[in-house]
Amino acid sequence: MRAFVISLLASTALIACSEVTQVVDDAQAQIETKTKRPVFEASAEGYTRSSEVDQLIKASLKSTYAYDITESLTTEIGPRVGGSPEEAKARQWAVAKFKEIGLENVRIEPFMMPYWERGIETAAIVSPNPQQLFITSLGGSVATPPEGIEAEIAYFPTFEDLKNAPEGGLDGKIVFISGRMKKAPDGAGYGPANQKRRQGATEAAKRGAIAVVIRSVGTDSHRFPHTGMMRYADDIKKIPIAALSAPDADQLERTLGRGETMTLKMTMTPQWKGQTESGNVIGDIVGSEKPEEIVLISGHLDSWDLGTGAIDDGAGIGISAGAAQVLIESGLKPKRTIRVVAFGAEEVGLLGGFAYAKKHKGESLNKHVLATESDFGAEPPYEVLSGVRSGKAVIEDMAKALNLPMSGRATNGGPDIGPMSREGVPTMRFQQEGTDYFDLHHTPDDTFDKIDADDMAKNTAAFTAMIWMASEAETDFRGDE
Ligand SMILES: [Zn+2]
Repeated sequence: MRAFVISLLASTALIACSEVTQVVDDAQAQIETKTKRPVFEASAEGYTRSSEVDQLIKASLKSTYAYDITESLTTEIGPRVGGSPEEAKARQWAVAKFKEIGLENVRIEPFMMPYWERGIETAAIVSPNPQQLFITSLGGSVATPPEGIEAEIAYFPTFEDLKNAPEGGLDGKIVFISGRMKKAPDGAGYGPANQKRRQGATEAAKRGAIAVVIRSVGTDSHRFPHTGMMRYADDIKKIPIAALSAPDADQLERTLGRGETMTLKMTMTPQWKGQTESGNVIGDIVGSEKPEEIVLISGHLDSWDLGTGAIDDGAGIGISAGAAQVLIESGLKPKRTIRVVAFGAEEVGLLGGFAYAKKHKGESLNKHVLATESDFGAEPPYEVLSGVRSGKAVIEDMAKALNLPMSGRATNGGPDIGPMSREGVPTMRFQQEGTDYFDLHHTPDDTFDKIDADDMAKNTAAFTAMIWMASEAETDFRGDE
């Protein structure tokens, strides 16, 4: 990450003077964010953490288990799309690892899902200036005809511009939607940038277009396009949609900026392969005094297919399993049950999260006292978010124990926790540093080398402190305050 900042500084010589100042300021701001790494060796001033919490945090900071298990998953399984044979292999891997740690009641809760598989994906500018482009199909996209689609480009600088365009008028065209995503530590730019990915095909088809390319939803300038799930509306024609790498989107904009009519050719052969099995892998540390009450930590086991799913979300699996491993090895016995869940099929629509909430709805879900997920990369947390209805002081104590500030923002605990949160399960979340997360997210660059062992240990420390303190707390986090 530091190398990127330095190269950014080095490249400023090529840019006009006022822009240089801006770039240097931005780079400096990034360095400052990056150097404000949390130090968990001591708690916040004026707060003394319990000897158990202190012991767990110190053991976590020395532990390499979260890092090692993420290495194992990304190396021995690699990419693992929801519903694929590789995801099935990952479930067996998780069962074996959970048992190895010493988790009890290790089991898979299976569910069925529609399985989408990527095919060939190519694109090129046909005229003017013929040249290859780098694209990737968005998840769930239909294929082009086998011979591809060749058509004139209709350009929309932003998704809003497309939505404001009159219906009709794009007959036979390939729509190109640009629009850049802003970098932010908490990934705040993702939601707005993501709309074109989810709804771009529908809005373009309403106006007569036959295919869509979007500028990747990402913050890098590398030549890898970013995949991710898209959606069709039921009553609108389904047209193929792909993401262009950022430099390719720039290339289209420069060519269009010269006032030229542009023709593009694209060929994609993804397929829906029918219903296949996915599942959630679950393991418990059974509570010593209140075994029926559950504190849940999690990540998602599936990944996109382009990378090996290291930061998204091998790291979340590693952090959750790593925290359980440290707690078991410490010999401390939590009062409540600590549950580790490796959710299936998150990327393709939070299917594991919905399946879990459905299966456990009622008595069991009512006994889930606190739930969270790590699904924002491998960098350490910098603030704590509360989604509880009582006992917020306990969440604040978790923050103090780790010397982290509380955030004023709300949380539903993470993507797979959302469905159980809607059923009333209290949640919290550690906001991980994610300024660079969307440089890699859903690209072939999401690989293990991007993960730092010390960062994983810090994440493990946060999760061990959380599970212990939630287990010991008197509150059930559900009452009205
Ligand atoms: Zn994820």
